[in-house]
Parts: sequence; structure tokens; C-alpha cells
Amino acid sequence: MGDRPDTNPPDSRLQDSDIQQFRQNFRGVVFTPDDPGYDEARRVYNRMIDRRPRLVARCVNVADVMSAVNFARDYHLPPAIRGGGHNVAGFGVCDDGIVIDMSLMKGIRVDPEQQTVRAEAGCTWGDLDHATHAFGLAAPGGIISTTGIAGLTLGGGVGHLTRKCGLSCDNLLSVDVVTADGRFVTASEAKHPELFWAIRGGGGNFGVITSFEYRLHPIRNVVAGPILYGLDKARDAMRNYRDFMKTAPEDVNGFFAFLLVPPGPPFPEALWNQAMCGAVMCYTGPATNASEALRPLIEFGPPAMVGLGEMPFPALQGAFDALVPKGMLHYWKADFVNELTDEMIDMHVQFGPMIPTVNSAMHVYPVSGAAHRLGRHDTAWSYRDAQYVHVIAAMYDNDADTEGNRAWVREYWNALHPLSAGGAYVNFLMDAANEDEGRVAASYRDNYDRLAAVKATYDPKNLFSVNQNIKPGVTAMVPGQTTAHVSER
Ligand SMILES: Cc1cc2nc3c(=O)[nH]c(=O)nc-3n(C[C@H](O)[C@H](O)[C@H](O)COP(=O)(O)OP(=O)(O)OC[C@H]3O[C@@H](n4cnc5c(N)ncnc54)[C@H](O)[C@@H]3O)c2cc1C
Repeated sequence: MGDRPDTNPPDSRLQDSDIQQFRQNFRGVVFTPDDPGYDEARRVYNRMIDRRPRLVARCVNVADVMSAVNFARDYHLPPAIRGGGHNVAGFGVCDDGIVIDMSLMKGIRVDPEQQTVRAEAGCTWGDLDHATHAFGLAAPGGIISTTGIAGLTLGGGVGHLTRKCGLSCDNLLSVDVVTADGRFVTASEAKHPELFWAIRGGGGNFGVITSFEYRLHPIRNVVAGPILYGLDKARDAMRNYRDFMKTAPEDVNGFFAFLLVPPGPPFPEALWNQAMCGAVMCYTGPATNASEALRPLIEFGPPAMVGLGEMPFPALQGAFDALVPKGMLHYWKADFVNELTDEMIDMHVQFGPMIPTVNSAMHVYPVSGAAHRLGRHDTAWSYRDAQYVHVIAAMYDNDADTEGNRAWVREYWNALHPLSAGGAYVNFLMDAANEDEGRVAASYRDNYDRLAAVKATYDPKNLFSVNQNIKPGVTAMVPGQTTAHVSER
């Protein structure tokens, strides 16, 4: 873990008897370095991360979460909160602290009449989609079903339904939270509104979310899949995609990618391992209208492959899971993008085809459509004016490929960054304390001070610091006083 000046050193007074007592009040499973299963329990998705916590506390209910938070605070053990464990910066584990692991908390209750769902924080998107799909409903998640709903939603949440339904965090109705003082609160527009504002984009800075309540959308099947073009058409294909997306209806979503074609179905063998570009589309309108809606992409080129088909929404969410199994090495860099200019496209055409290994890729995700209906101050997610977020993601299995992959990411990003909007989607960053210094504040822009004030109210000692950290800051001004904590109902 990087330097975290506000994190207290672990308490050397922590005795085995303290851990023993903690276990007695805990319904879930506790792992210490002496327990079988410890190494598996500390493992996160990105194999590059190898950290040794004092404890992993796998909670089964809110009472367990409260115990774990109180224990962390009382013994000065920095807590790492883990939902799906996907975070590439490795915030789901820490050295010398306690992992508050939510992965056993998977309760889900769909309310088909209200079209809402309440899901516990250990759910993955696959878990949530499975439960809601039975009712012909969906919440907007990402593009991989094994990602946790928790980390993805708290950072924002960009995926196949962004243009139709907004970011994942835009669809939150309420959250249950255990705060740094061990209190349980429910935050919504009506209750603890500042906290509710902050958690929609502000990450895991403000407490442990034990459950999320989402608004659902009547989406059962989609027409989706990849449209791939040869590199000789890359520049024009990317311009065509950009021009098409400018006026595309919100039922149309699609991210543009440079990739090495995976060697397996559904890709034709002739294309395997070839560097190509293209868009992965998702159309939520009537299936019979899909060809017409996507015609400008299908007719351009022509494409080397049109892999569109009608499928249940969860099938799309899981379609790429096999490309990114747990335990690969990840190194990512990202930016927000106001306009996909010709100059940026030229950079993509130069660097995109140089992808070193087959799972690595560059993706440009639209963050427009419904995501633009909220203003930059309506939630903590600041970049409501950006059209896209791009991520250059090295994902590979062989340690020997590290140097080539890192160099590709860095050189590509160095070329693009000066043309970008400045900040980045926090869920696509490596650990800002080490790797992406200054990028957290840049990502929240003028929302940062308000986030710092909420942090000062709910976590004044920065207990929750294993994250893209927001430091407790100047508290909100109240007339007649010099400073005061943000007023909360
Ligand atoms: C293969 C892959 C695909 C991805 N695809 C997408 C995508 O399509 N769209 C997208 O937006 N992002 C995507 N991401 C990024 C993803 O959003 C982040 O990695 C996110 O942090 C993962 O959430 P998690 O719960 O799985 O992670 P974890 O590592 O478990 O948690 C990450 C951080 O989130 C916070 N957190 C987790 N649970 C809680 C909780 N219960 N309470 C409070 N804080 C908590 C903590 O700060 C924690 O350290 C992807 C990542 C990977 C590796």
C-alpha cells in the first residue's frame, strides 16, 4: 500500500486474546495469517496486488460489519472494504489492517411493483442481474458480471446501459451504511442527503455500505455484440462511431475498442489474435428496429465481423467474463474526454494497434445520454459534461509481459492525456497515492471540497483511507459560525 499519512499505524497492542474476543462476537468467518485459507482470503482480482492484512473478516450481516468497523477503529487497523474484489488498485485488501469482506452478504429482494431492488453489498452484477431478470427488469451495471455492485456503484458505474439508464449510482434510491463510529444509518435524498450525495461517485470513503437500493428498468432482452473493423479502416471507423454516437438515441449504447481478437468463439478463426478495432454495441429498443438503429455502423467499411444478436441482458453482461478471469495482472490508466477529436483519434490509431497481449485493450465508453440528465453538482460524479471515459487496460497472465504492457499503457496514456478533460473515472485508476498522484482531486473538480466536508462529518479521522482517498476537509459554513459540520437530518 502507498503512503497514507492519515492512516494510523497498526496497534502493536493487538493480542491474540483481542482477536479471540472479536471472533466470539462475529457470525461470519475470520482469517488470520495462522488460519488455513488466509492466502485465498486475502487474494484480490489483480494478481499484482500482494498484501498481508492482520485479519480478514468475512461478514454475514450488518452486526458483523459494525463489529469489524469498531474493531478497526479501536485497534487502529486500517480497514480495506471488499465487495467484488475487482478494484485494480487493490483497495479490497491492505497490509497490516483488516479486510471487511462483504462477499457472503448476497441477499437480494426485488420489488416488481415498485420496480426496485435492494441488494446486499457482496453481490456481483451477475447476482443482481440474475435476480432482476426473472422479473424482466435490470439495473445498469458494467460490462463484466463478476464485478462487485459495491465498488462499481460507489465510483459511478459505467456500462452497457449508461446511455439508456444513467450511471449505476444515478439509479440508487438509498443505501444502508455503517459509519466510522459504528453507527448504522440509511442515506437517501430524504435522510442524510449529504452522505447520499457523496457516496454517488465518491467511492468507499464514507463508511461501509451494507446494502444498495436501486431503481430498475423494464429491460429483458437486448440486441448486442461486437462490430469489428480491420486496422486499415481504423481512423475512419472511429470517426464514424463518434459521429454516429453524437445523435444516436439513448437506446443505443456502445463502447469503442482496440483489441487483439480473442482466439475462440464467437470470433471467426480467421480473425483470431489479429489487432482490430470496433464497437461492442447494446440496443435496448425493440429487436426488430436494431438493424436500422445500428445501420451506420453495420454498413460502414464493411466490417470484418458483425456479431450482433438478440440475447437476455444477463447473457450480455457475462459475455466477456472468460477474457478476464480472477488472478490476471492488471495495470490501467484512464481519462475523461470532452470530445473525441480527430487529433485524439489519430493517437488511438497510432497506439491502439500496438497492444502487446491478447487480453489487454483500450476501451472508450460513452458517458452521455441519460448520464447527462444530472448536473455536475447533483452527485459527487463531476464529469457530467464529458462525452467519454477511456481506459487503457493492460490485462495479462505472464509476469514476463509486465514491461511491455506497462510501457504500452504509459506511452498511449501520455499521448492522450494532454488532449483529455483532466480528471478520470476513479474506478479506472490505479492507487492515486502512488501511481496517479493528484488525480483524485482532479476527478472531482469543484465537488472535492464538498466531499471533504462530508468526509469530515462522517469519517473525521479518515478511518476509511484504503481507497481513492478524500481527506477530511474544511467543514461546511453555517451562518453565524466560522466553521461547522455539514448539517444532517
Ligand atoms: C475486469 C474488470 C471489468 C470492469 N468493468 C467495469 C465496467 O464495465 N464499468 C465500470 O464502471 N467499472 C468497471 N470496472 C472497474 C470497477 O468498477 C472497479 O474495479 C470497482 O472498484 C470494483 O468494485 P468491487 O466491489 O468489485 O471492488 P472491490 O475491490 O471489492 O472494492 C473496491 C473499493 O470499493 C469500495 N467498496 C467496496 N465495497 C464497499 C462497501 N460495501 N462499502 C463501502 N465501500 C466499498 C472500497 O473503497 C474498496 O476498496 C472493472 C474492473 C475490472 C477488473
